[in-house]
Amino acid sequence: MPARTDSFDLGRLKLSSGEGRRLELEVALDPLRFGGETYVVTPPAAVAVLDISRTTHHGHALRLRFDAALRGPCMRCLEPAEPALSVDAREVDQPGDVEELRSPYVADEVLDLHAWARDALALALPAQLLCREDCAGLCPVCGTDLNAAGPDHAHERAPDPRWAKLGDLKFD
Ligand SMILES: [Zn+2]
Ligand SMILES: [Zn+2]
Repeated sequence: MPARTDSFDLGRLKLSSGEGRRLELEVALDPLRFGGETYVVTPPAAVAVLDISRTTHHGHALRLRFDAALRGPCMRCLEPAEPALSVDAREVDQPGDVEELRSPYVADEVLDLHAWARDALALALPAQLLCREDCAGLCPVCGTDLNAAGPDHAHERAPDPRWAKLGDLKFD
């Protein structure tokens, strides 16, 4: 495993303008809250590929890539789910008077890798975290897990009370 890295000193690389470097770093990933539930990241650290290039304006262009799996309840059926996510994030940090472009994760040429990885993972979340893409969810009538019950699970239509009344009428 590469060294665990929470922050990375970009200046230490001493890249000249236009030069780039690709690094593999281990980044810690915190549990995240989503839809009122907590999802832990498994494993809690990922091997990330960090591409760093020195821009021609004394800044840095950065790209961060890693894969991570979350573990928590499926948002449809509540069974354990372990959706896998791929993160591919980019940042530019370019100090200067004319074309200033600052990254919130870079201060004094030090990259806050931990915070960037956390936010990038949150941005990579799908709309719903599911046990599987076609999770059938729970029956809206009785709450049965429809993945286990199968597509034939059905309920007799509850008798409409208005029709029950009609049934009491007697026609001579
Ligand atoms: Zn599910
Ligand atoms: Zn049901």
